[in-house]
Order: sequence, then C-alpha cells, then structure tokens
Amino acid sequence: MLFELHVHSSYSDGKPTPKEILEYAGSRLDGIALTDHDEIAGALEALEHAGDDFTVIPGAEVSSVEGHILALGVTELVPRDLSAAETVDRIHGLGGLAVAAHPYDVRRAALGDLILKLPFDAVEVVNGHTFGNKKDPVKVCREAGLPMVGGSDAHILSEVGSVTVEFDGDWRNAIKKGNVTIDSRNIAHRIFNFGVGAVHRRISRSRKKGDH
Ligand SMILES: [Zn+2]
Ligand SMILES: [Zn+2]
Repeated sequence: MLFELHVHSSYSDGKPTPKEILEYAGSRLDGIALTDHDEIAGALEALEHAGDDFTVIPGAEVSSVEGHILALGVTELVPRDLSAAETVDRIHGLGGLAVAAHPYDVRRAALGDLILKLPFDAVEVVNGHTFGNKKDPVKVCREAGLPMVGGSDAHILSEVGSVTVEFDGDWRNAIKKGNVTIDSRNIAHRIFNFGVGAVHRRISRSRKKGDH
C-alpha cells in the first residue's frame, strides 16, 4: 500500500478541491489522509467520493497551543487551541491516531520534545514543507523507539504523493508499529538543498531491508 498522509485542500489553505485531490491521487496512490487545518468538511467530502480501491483517511491538522497535531481516522473535529495533551487525548477518544506534525520545524508551530512526553501514535519525521529542523527528528525517534511517518504537507496538486509511506496491511497497525517505508525521493533534490536529503533516503533504504 502506498499512502500520502498529509494533504491540505481548498477547505483550508490548500489550492485543490477534495475531488481534484482524489482524481489526482487515484492513479498514483492507494490512499490519502486529508488533513486540513482545523477543518474536517473537506475530508468528509473526500470520503464520500472515495471508490472501492482507494482509501480516504478522514482527518485534520489540529492547531494545539503547543504545535500542530495530525488527527488521522476521525470524522469529528477536535477544537483548536487546546493543550497538546488534551488534543491527543481527544483524538484518541474519537478513535483516531495522533501524529506529531513536523515536530522540530524551525519556522512553524512545532511540538519539539513533547513528542517524548505525550502518547503520540507516530511522529512525522519527513515533511515536504519543512526546510530546517531544530533537532534531527529521525535521531530522536530512533533513540526513543517512536514510530515514524512522513507526509508531503501538500498544498497544491503536484505535491500530493511527493512524500509517501509504503506498508502492508492495515494503515492503523502499520503506522502505530512504525512498519512503514518513508519515501521522499520525489522531493529529494529540494530537501537536499537544505541538507537533510541523505538522512531521508537512508530511512527509506534501511526500512526496506529491515522492518518490512
Ligand atoms: Zn503544520
Ligand atoms: Zn499541514
């Protein structure tokens, strides 16, 4: 299974509509998570348009006070501006997975070392819109044994699928166990310009050999 876990639609600050995202992703991927900022209507609309052979994970990128948190597999919105702890708790209460988005991003609201303290289901260590990290999220997650995922953080169609996760079986289990291969090949050049491309490609390779 090849999924993209971080996409914005026209329901928040993304350009494409949910329908356009599905049309684009349908021929390239097996599934996507639609994760608009503090908005779930686009994800629910995408869910309605999803076909039998394409998975839509309804979700949102929730603005907690301490940083952005992806809620994956929820059909209700968790309100913004709660503490990160409360946000994670509410996502779990709705049956969703709580994923720490771009936790060490230098420019954006980021959770930082809270990823070590709160019960996140996974950490987004590769994000297509992160141009620099305060710490290496891969190193932190490896040392702490935290499951890692990646997402493009797409805001335009051509970014959809530029960071993917590949896995076998059920997406929830794969993410929670960290049994995914993160692939950022499509934007490797762009990442390489900011000095972290080598790390990202290594994740992909070692995961393919080891944990698969
Ligand atoms: Zn974000
Ligand atoms: Zn985002």
